[in-house]
Amino acid sequence: MNRYAVIGAGPSGLAAARALHTRGITVDGYEASHGVGGLWDITNPRSTMYESAHLISSRTTTEFAEFPMRSRVDYPGHRVLKEYFDDYAEHFGLVELFRFDTRVTRLEPRDGGWDLTSAGPTGNETRWYAGVVLANGTLAEPNVPTFAGEFSGELLHTSAYKSPEQLKDKRVLLIGAGNSGCDIAVDAVHHASSIDMSVRRGYYFVPRYLFGRPSDTLNQGRPLPARIKQAVDSRVLRAFTGDPVRFGFPRPDYRIYESHPIVNTLILNHLGQGDLRIRPDIARFEGTTVHFRDGSADDYDLVLLATGYTLDYPFVDREHLHWRGASPRLFLNVFPASFNGLYVMGMIEASGIGWQGRYEQAELLAAYLSAVEEDPARAARFRERVTGAPWPDVTGGYRYLGLDRMAYYVNKDAYRGAVRREKSALEVSA
Ligand SMILES: Cc1cc2nc3c(=O)[nH]c(=O)nc-3n(C[C@H](O)[C@H](O)[C@H](O)COP(=O)(O)OP(=O)(O)OC[C@H]3O[C@@H](n4cnc5c(N)ncnc54)[C@H](O)[C@@H]3O)c2cc1C
Repeated sequence: MNRYAVIGAGPSGLAAARALHTRGITVDGYEASHGVGGLWDITNPRSTMYESAHLISSRTTTEFAEFPMRSRVDYPGHRVLKEYFDDYAEHFGLVELFRFDTRVTRLEPRDGGWDLTSAGPTGNETRWYAGVVLANGTLAEPNVPTFAGEFSGELLHTSAYKSPEQLKDKRVLLIGAGNSGCDIAVDAVHHASSIDMSVRRGYYFVPRYLFGRPSDTLNQGRPLPARIKQAVDSRVLRAFTGDPVRFGFPRPDYRIYESHPIVNTLILNHLGQGDLRIRPDIARFEGTTVHFRDGSADDYDLVLLATGYTLDYPFVDREHLHWRGASPRLFLNVFPASFNGLYVMGMIEASGIGWQGRYEQAELLAAYLSAVEEDPARAARFRERVTGAPWPDVTGGYRYLGLDRMAYYVNKDAYRGAVRREKSALEVSA
C-alpha cells in the first residue's frame, strides 16, 4: 500500500485526509501550525482571519454534508468555525494523522514519488511518498501592488489586520473592496477617526438575507442558465440594495457573478449615513498624502491594502504544477496532466462552493488513488481521459474577469457537477 502526504490541516487538508482515510489509503499529514482549522484558527501564525470575521456563505451551504455544525446560526464567527474543525477532526480520527508544528519546506521528485522535507519540533526530516496532496491554502500570501511614490505613514496588508484596535483613532484609507476589505471598513467606521475606501471598479453587493432567508440558500435547485440568473439576480439586487453608484462606487464594467460578489450591505448603510467615503484609484503617495486619480488628495495615518492574495506553493518548483499565468493549470483544479504524483486541494474560488465542494474534490482524488491501488487499469483510463479529451467547462457560462485573482475561479454548480461526473466515470468498473 502506497503512503501519501497531505500538506495543511485547514478545511481542504482535513477533507483530503478524511476522504483518503475513508478509502483505507495511508496518510501522513503535515501542518505548520499547532492545530487544525487552517485560516479559521486566528492563532495560526499564517491565518488571515480577523476578530470580526464571520462566514460569508451561510452555514448550511458551507458545512461538510456528513458533519452538520452544532451551531444553528446562519453566519457563525471564526471561533465557532475553529471549534467545528476541531470537532470534525476529532470525530473522524484525523488529528492523529497529522504532525503539527511541522512545516513542509521542500518537495523533490524521486523514483516516481516525492521526497518531502519538513521542519518540525525534532528538526528536519525527509521522507518519501508515492504522492503528495497540497492543501496549504490560497489566501495566505499577500498580493501587494506597487504604487508610485512612498507612503510615510503606516502601510499594512489586510493579512496583518487582526483587531479594530489597530484602527483606533486613525485616519484610514482602505485600498480595494473585497469581502475582507468591506468587513474591515465596517470595523473602521466604529473605531477609526475617519475611513475612506479607494476602488478601481464597481461591485455587486448581495445582502446576507433575502426574503428572510440567507441569500445563498435561495435558488438551490436546478441552476438557472447564466444569462437568466444574471438578469433575475440583478433585478432582485436593484430592488433590495439599490444602485451602489448612488453611494459613490463606479458602475461595474462587468455583469453580476463575472467577479466575486460582496456579501455585505452594511457598507452601503454606512455610506448612506456618511460614515465613510469612496475615493477613486490611487495616483501616487507623497509622505502621508495620498493623491487620487481624479486630482483630489488627502492625508492618512494608515493605508490598508485589501488587495487580495496570490497563489503560492513555495516548496515545489513551478514546472511540476504546470503554472500558466497566475495559477497552476490542473484538471478540475486538482490533477496535473502529467500525473506526477502531486495533487492540489482547495485551489478553487467560487461563490458558494463551501467546504462540501472541497470535500467532493477530495472524494474524486480518493477514488483515483484507490483505483491506483486496486485497479490500475481503471486508474489508467482516468489518466487517458484527462490527457486525451477536452476538459470540462467549469465556468457555468459566466465570462469571468481576466484578473489574476480569477485565474482559478469556477462556477460552483458546473464545477461540482463535473467533479461528480468524473468520479462516477472513474468508478464504473471494467
Ligand atoms: C475572512 C475570510 C472569510 C471567509 N469566508 C468564507 C466563507 O464564508 N465560505 C467559504 O467557503 N470560504 C470562506 N473563506 C475562504 C477560506 O479560504 C476557506 O473557507 C478555507 O479556509 C480554505 O481552506 P484550505 O484548507 O484550503 O486553506 P487554509 O484554511 O488556508 O489552510 C491551509 C493550512 O495549510 C497550512 N500550511 C501552509 N503551508 C504549509 C506548509 N508548508 N507546511 C505545512 N502546513 C502548511 C496552514 O498553516 C493552514 O493551516 C474565507 C476566508 C477568509 C480569509
